[in-house]
Amino acid sequence: MKLTILGATGSIGVSTLDVVARHPDRFEVVALTGHGQVELLAAQCRQFRPAYAVVGTATAARELVALLRDASVRTEVLHGPDALTGVASLPGVDAVMAAIVGAAGLPPTLAAVRAGKRVLLANKEALVMAGAVFMGEARRAGTLLLPIDSEHNAVFQSMPGDYSGDMARCGVRRILLTASGGPFRTTPLDALTRITPEQAVAHPNWVMGRKISVDSATMMNKGLEVIEAHWLFNAPAERIEVVIHPQSVIHSLVDYEDGSVLAQLGNPDMRTPIAHALAWPQRIDSGVAPLDLFTVGRLDFERPDPVRFPCLDLAYRALRAEGNAAAVLNAANEVAVSAFLELRLPFLGIAGLIAATLDAVPQAALPDLAAVLEADRQGRAMATEILLRQGGSSS
Ligand code: NAD
Ligand code: MG
Repeated sequence: MKLTILGATGSIGVSTLDVVARHPDRFEVVALTGHGQVELLAAQCRQFRPAYAVVGTATAARELVALLRDASVRTEVLHGPDALTGVASLPGVDAVMAAIVGAAGLPPTLAAVRAGKRVLLANKEALVMAGAVFMGEARRAGTLLLPIDSEHNAVFQSMPGDYSGDMARCGVRRILLTASGGPFRTTPLDALTRITPEQAVAHPNWVMGRKISVDSATMMNKGLEVIEAHWLFNAPAERIEVVIHPQSVIHSLVDYEDGSVLAQLGNPDMRTPIAHALAWPQRIDSGVAPLDLFTVGRLDFERPDPVRFPCLDLAYRALRAEGNAAAVLNAANEVAVSAFLELRLPFLGIAGLIAATLDAVPQAALPDLAAVLEADRQGRAMATEILLRQGGSSS
């Protein structure tokens, strides 16, 4: 199988290449992309010898060309958004790992969807922003969309094999998405005012990129995942429930009308869903250690506290509002998380900034990609304006 890996230098990208390297007879890397981590990308090109590598800027491209020339690697180096969409839709490529973080991943991911590739979807923001357009294009092109997000991968594995989006017909009552609760599940509420970026990105169970780690700390990650589940499985908001499960061993569950509840379990390591999606419908070694239930010992469950995790309700609100609301929510969240990481917004200001942005941007329909990108632009502009009004700029 010939692969393009968008976001190869990130946490998911590196885990993907780890699985790929275990099966050289099975996978061939055609293209790798990374925004700025040129040294890492060069090392990946030396190891996997792709035909193309894509970086963000002309400067980064020059650096990569020099590094590859020194190592006698004949990878063609490209840069910019058009190159990303190009390698996502190359005729010879069978599958695309969509692992760019945030809205920047939407155009290339959508290009892979339109080109009918097997799309391994990690970039949840793309689906949150553009759900209707994205799923419409996938249906039109007959695209096989396989979720990488561990929860959605677990739901996919726990759904009937021939599931095609009709929960009632398949006797599915609810989707239960598990959440670890992040690093602040039990932190006293008054201590949350002093949270630093370093504390927020230190996730108890998963090692991930900085943005998704902050999203896990606010539980906006689970909110985005509720919206993601809505689109992937055609599930209405009231049939998607979030359960805090601090051990992160049950990755999610499907509750059937007859009382059966099917779940997927495993060690918290993204190589499991990645290997699942790469090889589906077969199973291959992922390098993940077997689950040792005796070490796990117990599995706990809690209801999410809406006071501690207001971002979860904001995401449900955006999902129910339809139209541009989820794109605006996502844009405001990206602005808020960046501001928090740059010490321009306190941790507890994240939810407030998103709520104020949702209130301020007028409702609109999202019929096509242009409308999605406009909603994203409006959400960012409004969130930035509100942030400046609050005096949140130190730059
Ligand atoms: P990361 O920050 O580690 O990596 C992000 C990748 O995207 C890097 O390769 C980076 O170079 C690239 N990138 C960043 N900005 C870009 C831009 N403007 N243009 C092009 N490329 C850009 O992030 P991650 O943790 O690997 O997450 C990637 C995606 O997968 C996110 O959408 C995240 O929500 C999702 N996801 C991650 C995990 C996880 O365990 N890390 C789990 C589930 C879902
Ligand atoms: Mg997840």
